[in-house]
Amino acid sequence: MYPSLSYWERETFFRNIDVAVIGSGIVGLTAAIHLRELSPGLRVVVIERGTLPLGASTRNAGFACFGSISELLDDRSQRSGEEVWALVARRWQGLKRLRERLGDAAIGYEENGGYELFRAEEQATFQRCADHVEPFNRELEHVIGRKAVYKLANAQIPATGFQGVTGLLLNSAEGQIHTGRMMHALWQLARDKGVEMYNGIEITQLETQSDEILLHTEQGWALRCSQALVATNGFARRLLPELDVQPARNQVLITQPIPGLKLKGCFHYDRGYYYFRDVEGRILLGGGRNLDPQEEATDQFGTTPLIQEALIRLLHEVILPGREVEVDTWWSGILGIGPEKAPIIKRLNDRLSVSVRMGGMGVAIGSLVGEEGAEMVLSGT
Ligand SMILES: Cc1cc2nc3c(=O)[nH]c(=O)nc-3n(C[C@H](O)[C@H](O)[C@H](O)COP(=O)(O)OP(=O)(O)OC[C@H]3O[C@@H](n4cnc5c(N)ncnc54)[C@H](O)[C@@H]3O)c2cc1C
Repeated sequence: MYPSLSYWERETFFRNIDVAVIGSGIVGLTAAIHLRELSPGLRVVVIERGTLPLGASTRNAGFACFGSISELLDDRSQRSGEEVWALVARRWQGLKRLRERLGDAAIGYEENGGYELFRAEEQATFQRCADHVEPFNRELEHVIGRKAVYKLANAQIPATGFQGVTGLLLNSAEGQIHTGRMMHALWQLARDKGVEMYNGIEITQLETQSDEILLHTEQGWALRCSQALVATNGFARRLLPELDVQPARNQVLITQPIPGLKLKGCFHYDRGYYYFRDVEGRILLGGGRNLDPQEEATDQFGTTPLIQEALIRLLHEVILPGREVEVDTWWSGILGIGPEKAPIIKRLNDRLSVSVRMGGMGVAIGSLVGEEGAEMVLSGT
């Protein structure tokens, strides 16, 4: 049991807070930074349960992606073309904001392209995607101002050494970041902007009162603030069960350094259920959630033999066939997903707002969603 707070601790650290942001992922930190940018006099506090952020932002694959052709075709089967391109625009804008705010060098941004891989049995899908290269390039030019972004890349297949891959499409504007460096830079910027950050505090309950909102903690005491922004993504329902956010676990491995590795860029395999990229001479590989959707619909971290074996097979049989490659380490992260491929950015009452449900695109849209959350909070102060 944590001891009760001293009078000094209670009055100095956890009272008179203008805005408390719950969660220090990309969304929470960006929101806190933006609050101070817009209103430097505000006392902004970020509350994080982990020693480091403990969700998705320090555990993802670092794809700076805004949509592969098959993903956009899939999206288009569920919503209007306008909505699909609007989401692409938001992802592109979000990446631009992230890069502007932190700088490409600090986040390790490299535009090495993103490739979609197709197997022989996916020939019909490949052909459908290939048929959309030209029309999608015309649409995309309006959105991001670049020409001929999508390209057929079958000629590159032999050089990749991939086994069983018969179709390759390139998104030449897709980039990649160093996830760890990006989050460290964001954390550093938050400190520089005068955001107060407290780790190791889990909020267990929110209690809105007429003149303030109380954030009850696992330790047994409460913080008092004027406004609160919940940025807990895949864990949102623990605090707010009414929100339509489902947790979804993703398992990831990274190999030991691979001498002479030539592969560069981000790669999407099997309709995006698997993804891999190069990182400092290694391969990072993740996905496979579709193999066991029920078991993976969890906000508990962990790895399972079923998915680990599938990732290992993919690594040895398709990505680097015939190469001796060892896994350095495994981890998992928790996504927040829902019936719609859009975040929830909403004011729940006079004192409480939420910015959650980033899906698999939080690197891309997290900056915008954080900023919009901050602006929503300010509209209520
Ligand atoms: C394995 C994996 C790979 C991914 N790859 C990509 C990719 O390549 N490109 C891309 O765009 N996106 C990717 N994503 C998605 C992206 O990482 C997320 O969308 C994004 O990080 C979400 O950011 P967030 O700030 O909303 O949430 P999070 O980063 O999950 O942050 C939420 C924070 O809230 C904290 N928290 C939760 N509950 C409480 C509480 N009660 N009290 C205090 N703190 C609390 C958590 O500890 C956590 O730190 C990937 C995700 C995973 C898991």
